[in-house]
Amino acid sequence: MSENTTPTRDPSLDVANIDAAEFPHRKLERLAGTRESRFQVVFKQAVLHEIHSHGKSSPEAEICGVLVGNVFRDNEGPYLYVNHSIRGDSAENRAAQVTFKAETWTHIQNVMERDFPDEKIVGWYHTHPGFGIFLSGMDLFIQDNFFNLPWQVAFVYDPTSGEEGAFVWRAGSSEREPVLIQEDTIEEQQARPDYEWKAPNETVVVPQKDPYSSAAIWTLAILAFLASFLIAMIFIR
Ligand SMILES: [Zn+2]
Repeated sequence: MSENTTPTRDPSLDVANIDAAEFPHRKLERLAGTRESRFQVVFKQAVLHEIHSHGKSSPEAEICGVLVGNVFRDNEGPYLYVNHSIRGDSAENRAAQVTFKAETWTHIQNVMERDFPDEKIVGWYHTHPGFGIFLSGMDLFIQDNFFNLPWQVAFVYDPTSGEEGAFVWRAGSSEREPVLIQEDTIEEQQARPDYEWKAPNETVVVPQKDPYSSAAIWTLAILAFLASFLIAMIFIR
């Protein structure tokens, strides 16, 4: 690809052009954030959790993966529901930039067929460890060439700062927009490997402070020794 190749912008590539009638109706529940009357991206909380774990496992080099889910509609219009993610474990980390290699795609296709036959690849995620949320030239190239359906998104996470952002198609370019989060059910939270069980109405036990610290005991012992020594001196005289 030559240096001056500019991606061809197709202004019709826009989430506003999604025909809601094409997609099944489904009511959203357990939403953190407000559902507005426009296309919005909804992440299942467990998916964000998984992306965070994947990102934090590689604090130096970028990692990437794909987002899996479906487009639905509710009374507010169409929305993208991100239900799963697949790690691109064999993605090549060349310096700072991620790329999807042929082996990565084969792995992703196999997982899609095996685990998510009724779902779609709805976008991709990758990390920018310590350098913030944006799409680089290479990222835009990946978005333009592999994720160029109107409802396909890019998600960037910085495991150093904890910042993250989603990019959706608006008039042929990738624009950053806030996402909605669907909170996990109690059962889903408990199914996580790092779930910490908390007793209901847990009482905090404040450790009792030792009234006789070892320093105080030593000070008393030395004072008692000196006192007995002085008393002995007085009697000897
Ligand atoms: Zn990037």
